[in-house]
Amino acid sequence: VSPVPTDIEIAQAATLKPIAQLAEEIGILPEELELYGPYKAKVKLSILERLKDVPNGQYIDVTAITPTPLGEGKTTTTVGLSQALGAHLGYSVFTCIRQPSQGPTFGIKGGAAGGGYSQVIPMEEFNLHLTGDIHAITAANNLLAAAIDARILHEAGATDEQLFNRLCPPDKNGKRRFAPGLLGRLRKLGIDKTDPNELTPEERSKLVRLDIDPTTITWRRVLDTSDRFLRGIVIGKGPEEAGFERETGFDITVASELMAILALTTSLRDMRERIGRMVVAVSRSGEPITAEDLGVAGALTVLMKDTIKPNLMQTLEGTPVFVHAGPFANIAHGNSSIIADQIALKLADFVVTESGFGSDIGMEKFFDIKCRYSGLLPSVVVLVATVRALKMHGGGPKVVAGKPLDPAYTDENLPLLKEGLANLIHHIHIVRKFGIPVVVAINRFHTDTPAELELIRDAAIQAGAEDAVVSRHWELGGEGAIELAEAVVRASQKPRKFQFLYPLEMSIKEKIETIAREIYGADGVDYSPEAEKQIEEYTRMGFDHLPICVAKTHLSLSADPNLKGVPKGFRLPVREIRASVGAGFLYPLIGKMSTMPGLPTRPAFFEIDIDPETEKIIGL
Ligand code: ADP
Ligand code: MG
Repeated sequence: VSPVPTDIEIAQAATLKPIAQLAEEIGILPEELELYGPYKAKVKLSILERLKDVPNGQYIDVTAITPTPLGEGKTTTTVGLSQALGAHLGYSVFTCIRQPSQGPTFGIKGGAAGGGYSQVIPMEEFNLHLTGDIHAITAANNLLAAAIDARILHEAGATDEQLFNRLCPPDKNGKRRFAPGLLGRLRKLGIDKTDPNELTPEERSKLVRLDIDPTTITWRRVLDTSDRFLRGIVIGKGPEEAGFERETGFDITVASELMAILALTTSLRDMRERIGRMVVAVSRSGEPITAEDLGVAGALTVLMKDTIKPNLMQTLEGTPVFVHAGPFANIAHGNSSIIADQIALKLADFVVTESGFGSDIGMEKFFDIKCRYSGLLPSVVVLVATVRALKMHGGGPKVVAGKPLDPAYTDENLPLLKEGLANLIHHIHIVRKFGIPVVVAINRFHTDTPAELELIRDAAIQAGAEDAVVSRHWELGGEGAIELAEAVVRASQKPRKFQFLYPLEMSIKEKIETIAREIYGADGVDYSPEAEKQIEEYTRMGFDHLPICVAKTHLSLSADPNLKGVPKGFRLPVREIRASVGAGFLYPLIGKMSTMPGLPTRPAFFEIDIDPETEKIIGL
């Protein structure tokens, strides 16, 4: 239809396939499916065992140049490319993307199911609760937070003997047993006894007294709402907690370590182990304290047991989609789950996944963190570019969400565009560093002119892209991305020589410096005194072999969101480093980067409502 209706109008007009039918079409057995209503289902991990001997399909990652705050159409391109491959070129295809956070949905960005005629449906379910995975993570995260503060309080008011009697109470015959929550700590302490009565007083004390230093607690509470007033809070103001007051704060759920674990885990056993390894604080004697030590790792895994199964949905053209895990890309590692990709690669010729924001952010983490843990190797990277973002990089006026675009963006302006091409070229070079062929997808907006599109195409090919293709999937659906799909198929047959950016054996500082110089183009890195201290501590505790997940603005290659194009002559300021030992990465926070977003003056929720008669949602 022309002009193209709004995203939600298109989505609501679509005919949906029953999800059980879609599952059957793509080779998922009925007993491997857990239905959540007619159009959503979870897929059980037993499918991996059944299909373990099937060869993997081709693995495609979609990334982008440095975006405007509006987003340049990665999800839309991911879906459009999938629709072209699956519904027009006759390949079997799977799309694997993240579940969006409520923060942006009601805040700055709005929905994230793609756009125009390239969307995941039902988009309301996709953008809202889906099957409750994010809520489960919130519940698990906050149970652990409650466990830490309660433990400190209870330890303070009791002798070792009293604590032992409470954690390991005798039954009426005087017999004691170790609850499952104590077994992990026993193992860590190297105590090989099955009868609690046989513990020496020293062993008892070590088992029951964690002696957490409250000033070292790094575990924060989470909520999946952009609520800036929870960034810094004081807890323990009730009369019964007097003396245990402390400052802490909330992060958004999708930045939590448990979300990262969900995205990086490969089985329920692996998830249970990673949850146990999460470090939440340090004891007064310098021992890292884990969720396992607190006896809560089993319960957290139980709260998260269903989250590990990928959620099956569909595109507007009836091709399958896994929506699974949703770590933010700027303040987390920004990629959907390994498990969904693993299952999809067994079921389809092509699996198209998206990594968040620009190639400097989500794609670098896709390779150096996600692929490192999964062992999977992508065949092709699709780099999404738009005329509007390149004009912004060329010095165009500020682009603000919710405000109409300046005519510089909608009228032909070749000099401005030409000025901005450096950003595209830099991103092509980033992808090529990893040794994977790159196809540039020029996501066409209706105001783009042929001369502008041609200019981008030429520059991309000259910079080393395998191909550069104008794509009209937003306007036309899969049909508009056929040429892009053909280019991707061709590129997937090219030889590749994949390499990580850095080896894990490098020191923490060497790894951060490598990312800063090679990916962002920085002259070097500056560390706050706090970051210096943390690097020393993490190295002492043996966490220095982990990969690095930089939390940096996505709006610039540098740490300053206002610097567009390819900034030069800057240094990367590391303010703080957090350790996500269970997820398996160290997490430097750059500049003023916050782990809890705020709402803008005019949030997306102003557009959203429901018709009580028809239950139809508007404005999402
Ligand atoms: P990203 O995943 O890169 O953040 P999205 O695919 O979510 O970007 O797209 C961001 C927004 O831009 C969506 O609202 C989408 O409908 C819109 N959009 C994407 N491509 C086009 C296009 N070619 N023309 C008009 N709007 C588009
Ligand atoms: Mg997206």
